[in-house]
Amino acid sequence: MSKQDYYQTLGLQKNSSDAEIKKAYRKLAMKYHPDRNPDDKTAEIKFKEAKEAYEVLSDNQKRAAYDQFGHAGVNNQAGMGGGFNPGDAFNDIFGDMFGDIFGNARGQRRQSSAQRGADLRYELDLDLEQAVFGETIKINIPSLIGCDTCAGSGAKKGTEATRCLRCEGRGSVRVQQGFFTLQQTCPECRGAGQTIKDPCIDCSGSGRVQKERTISIKIPPGVDQDDRIRLSSEGEAGMKGGPPGDLYVDVNIRSHPIFKREGSNLFCEVPISFTKAALGGTVEVPTIDGAVNLTIPTETQSGEVFRLRGKGVQSYRDRVLGDLFCNIQIETPVNLNTDQKNILKSFEESISKSKKEHRPNKNKWTESVKNFFNRLGI
Ligand SMILES: [Zn+2]
Ligand SMILES: [Zn+2]
Repeated sequence: MSKQDYYQTLGLQKNSSDAEIKKAYRKLAMKYHPDRNPDDKTAEIKFKEAKEAYEVLSDNQKRAAYDQFGHAGVNNQAGMGGGFNPGDAFNDIFGDMFGDIFGNARGQRRQSSAQRGADLRYELDLDLEQAVFGETIKINIPSLIGCDTCAGSGAKKGTEATRCLRCEGRGSVRVQQGFFTLQQTCPECRGAGQTIKDPCIDCSGSGRVQKERTISIKIPPGVDQDDRIRLSSEGEAGMKGGPPGDLYVDVNIRSHPIFKREGSNLFCEVPISFTKAALGGTVEVPTIDGAVNLTIPTETQSGEVFRLRGKGVQSYRDRVLGDLFCNIQIETPVNLNTDQKNILKSFEESISKSKKEHRPNKNKWTESVKNFFNRLGI
């Protein structure tokens, strides 16, 4: 078929090294790969030529024969005869050579021995005050950290991990299955790319040990339920020199005996006596930064809400300063003595004789009940 000069095709000299051949082929294959040049005949031919040249020059025997006898020497063994199947070409050559470039798209990612450590998640319970004002908190987390004894290598002191012979350190092996060449995790080293003859005693060869770590977390003021704080590189140690993962701290705020929080607003219930509700006065209410006096107007009803501006919390997310909403609850007096009961009885008598309506909701409510029964036909 083609009588190209293989060295010329790859842009090389006759004395080029294996590495140079590989590099030159890699460059051309990247440029002319059918995946990158769909329906481009010229690119396809260039790719085929490069592939043919590489197949011969990367094989020492074939290369020697080609050098000595030219094309007759290799007898067209490179297999340019039949149809062209980019998939085959990929699996065959790219599988081991370009796995890291095309591998992912083909689901054949070459496994690297260095692995990033896992991310960790920690649920941090905070009191409302801690969340509002911020605080530095120390937490203990059980975690895998790099083994000191072997400096993370997994090999016993004074020994070294050796390159896996089965996969030559790649961590994966090629397996022929019918027409296809598949890549699999190396069964010998389980993808690590290296084997350890004498494993480190402290970490059993994993390079990591389980240990409780104490970490200081700076809680920014204003964090809220479900806020997440990321502590970069505080997760589990990486494998074989890989970087550590991150630590994610999820904020959970404990329920508070007085306040409920919604965003930057606070809500609380304020119980007052029925006399204060009727006559008006002041009541001391708690806020997140101390007590303040709330004025209760005369004729305050149960369930009325008073708003104290700026007495909420400043949210970390939007820096908005919220308000405090006080929901008034009127208490019915208990433990009354005879005198007190008599006073209330005479009060009730006085009310019933009065020509004024003293119950603001009574008429409206009576009307609603009447309408309801009418609709039912009672
Ligand atoms: Zn160790
Ligand atoms: Zn291996």
